[in-house]
Amino acid sequence: MTYKHITLPHAGKKISVVDGALRVPDNPIIGFIEGDGIGPDITKASLRVWDAAVEKAYAGKRKIHWCELYMGEKAAGLFDGDYFPKETLDAIRELTIAIKGPLTTPIGGGFRSLNVSLRQALDLYACVRPVRYYAGVPSPLRRPEEVDVVIFRENTEDVYAGIEYQSGTPENEKLARFLREQMGANFFDDAGLAIKPISPFGSKRLIRKAIQYAIDHERESVTLVHKGNIMKYTEGAFRNWGYELAKEEFGEHTITEEELYSEYGGKQPAGKIVIKDRIADIIFQLLQLRPSEFDVIATMNLNGDYLSDAVAAEVGGIGIAPGANISDVVAVFEATHGTAPKYANQNKVNPSSLLLSGAMMLEYMGWKEAADLINAAYPQVVGDKFVTYDFARLMSGSHTVSTSAFADALIARITGNADDLARFEQERRDALERERKEREAQRVTNPMEAMKESGRRPTTAGGIMSPIKSIAASATVDKAMHQMRQHNISSILVEPDGSGTWGIMTQRDIVTKIVGANKSAANVKVSEIASRPLVCVTSDLTLRLVSQTMMDNRVRRVVVESNDQPVGIVSETDLFRIVEEFGWEPED
Ligand code: NAP
Repeated sequence: MTYKHITLPHAGKKISVVDGALRVPDNPIIGFIEGDGIGPDITKASLRVWDAAVEKAYAGKRKIHWCELYMGEKAAGLFDGDYFPKETLDAIRELTIAIKGPLTTPIGGGFRSLNVSLRQALDLYACVRPVRYYAGVPSPLRRPEEVDVVIFRENTEDVYAGIEYQSGTPENEKLARFLREQMGANFFDDAGLAIKPISPFGSKRLIRKAIQYAIDHERESVTLVHKGNIMKYTEGAFRNWGYELAKEEFGEHTITEEELYSEYGGKQPAGKIVIKDRIADIIFQLLQLRPSEFDVIATMNLNGDYLSDAVAAEVGGIGIAPGANISDVVAVFEATHGTAPKYANQNKVNPSSLLLSGAMMLEYMGWKEAADLINAAYPQVVGDKFVTYDFARLMSGSHTVSTSAFADALIARITGNADDLARFEQERRDALERERKEREAQRVTNPMEAMKESGRRPTTAGGIMSPIKSIAASATVDKAMHQMRQHNISSILVEPDGSGTWGIMTQRDIVTKIVGANKSAANVKVSEIASRPLVCVTSDLTLRLVSQTMMDNRVRRVVVESNDQPVGIVSETDLFRIVEEFGWEPED
């Protein structure tokens, strides 16, 4: 393609897409838009850091060939007042990947935000915001290091679709009449009206990207965030389509959270990603109190908008949050703050948002080693309290440096001690992994507590069962009692005897069949006093029916079975705790 003002560098090669996957040559051409206001300052500084990281990581074997693209005020100067030239859009499509600084939204009638226009023109339907903590960055959280989430926000639908009718207009009145007269809707007079479209197509393509990301980056879970308890056919449908998609397209790689408890006893099988969902309001609380439980989040436009900024604020604010807008393949990485015009050309502001968006871009290209160098050098420089003015005012004893001096410090770290940096990044990953293992241990040993803390209300036998403990049929009762004491349990399963049937021995059996019958616990085998056959339920049985089964069979506990094998146990006490913790509402 030929361009009027854009010049593709001769030495570079274009990124190609084969069967939907990126093919990145060692000398890719990547587009950059420096942006308005503080854009040129942060772009200049960031380009130097990215180049240094690539050079260090690949010893000169790889190199980015940058191609300047124009949008915003610089474009208007070159293209006769056109802020949004078509040739820049063509070039982004041709180059596949670009990175941009902030753009001014021209004030005055008829201008829409250039960022929104860009997303729409290139159908960049997924807004991706990784939010993680970098040591040393000021944070209001007690344990900010537990924050490491990637938010996938749907960019094209929801109340952002622009289908809105102003109060008092003929369109509004026409729609209001239709809704009242034809659809039986009831609302106050003169209400402004907006439509919230959420489609299976829009939802699934976003969630597909989130799950694929989780697979590619070996993440633990994907959480669908929605307000489906209130908006059943939009937000609730998003959730349902998400589960449907995970099962149909990623069945090999995913399990649901329900299955994690009911089939795997809380222990996450290797290579499987857990698909779960949370209500939009509770997620704000959970991301503050238990951020380590969330990994990749997929949500709709409005929830995503609020959530991205709220989570970013936990670890330093949107001033340092990186971001990208991605279509099926084309990706535009960007600083998430604005142009801060009062600081333009002062070499003063923090380049972190753009800089870290570049690290994210390197990961997207598969150049993880270069991204790691930046991610690891960053906290070291901030930890040295070598920061721009915005961080300096939040940190005592800091050195306030310019945009370019901050970049110099990063480059010095990257080029000076690459091995140390790689180890540092590995240590961070190991710490997160340890934390995950601790949570898994809690899920296995105390599933109900884990569930309560994670904001879920259990509804089925699988959701509240405890893992089983069993003993050989030939063991003596005193040995079984010893095990029950050790594990603090009131019943123990008895492994199949000659007849091949499992049994159960409870504290009550000991009272009635040993003490009451005046026998010796050391001489009686558990098989002699065990109850058989077991009263079993399936893991998906609702709690009401579990209770009904106990009443019908006059037992105080039931065994949860899967493939004819006992996998868990639910007792009257467990049901009591559910009512105590969560209250009880009649089941639908
Ligand atoms: P802004 O440019 O983000 O600036 C607001 C304040 O945030 C600044 O005054 C400064 O705070 C702080 N800040 C922003 N970036 C910073 C950085 N890199 N380093 C240190 N501090 C930083 O928001 P705005 O003033 O509302 O918007 C200005 C223009 O940007 C508007 O035209 C808007 O449309 C546009 N905008 C563009 C994008 C985008 O391109 N993605 C996003 C948002 C806004 P202090 O004054 O306290 O130091």
